[in-house]
Amino acid sequence: MGLSDIRQRIASAAKAAGRDADEITLIAVSKVQPAERVEAVLAEGHRIYGENRVQEAQSRWPHFLERWPGIALHLIGPLQTNKARAAVGLFGAIHSVDRMRLVETLARLADERGTSPDLFVQVNTGQEPQKAGCLPAEADGLVEACRRLGLPIRGLMCIPPEAEDPEPHFRALAGMAVRNGLAGLSMGMSGDFETAIACGATHVRVGSAIFGARKAAAG
Ligand SMILES: *Cc1c(COP(=O)(O)O)cnc(C)c1O
Repeated sequence: MGLSDIRQRIASAAKAAGRDADEITLIAVSKVQPAERVEAVLAEGHRIYGENRVQEAQSRWPHFLERWPGIALHLIGPLQTNKARAAVGLFGAIHSVDRMRLVETLARLADERGTSPDLFVQVNTGQEPQKAGCLPAEADGLVEACRRLGLPIRGLMCIPPEAEDPEPHFRALAGMAVRNGLAGLSMGMSGDFETAIACGATHVRVGSAIFGARKAAAG
């Protein structure tokens, strides 16, 4: 457990897949973790972090951003349209684009600000009713809308159903990315990032395996 162990496991998984580990971005998912754990990982030199709630990120990160240069924040949780303005002000990437109304809002904000976070369309590959993400059949349309509106669409993201083998979901997402000419694949968490890397992940989102177990459930 810990940052260096995860880095090593990423390197081994990349090697086993015949890939370059530099193609894989490690997003350390700091949601709900106590500040001292986050600071310990910052002190180890890691600069890319994931949060799943805009409000939580807003309350904790401005302080860290001042103290530690070069931090990039990724939003990995669902984004309500009324929090989009706050989100684009704080995050360098948003992994949860999942509906047309949000695409339109992000496009308006990008026009106004002259810049936009990198975007990933989240696909609900397991078609779970309670889960965020667009249906697989809607993904191409959302990617197309991002492009038409001039948004920096980088890839696709998924969270496979907890009780299932993640591999078919990762493979399905990889196929959708190829079909759409997208290079980015945000997939893989603490329990399955090596499988995700074997399936082509470019962004793995690892929380508890770096920071330790979370105290409260954070979705
Ligand atoms: C919490 C979370 C993660 C990290 O989960 P771990 O199992 O702790 O690695 C990754 N992706 C998303 C979208 C999350 O909400």
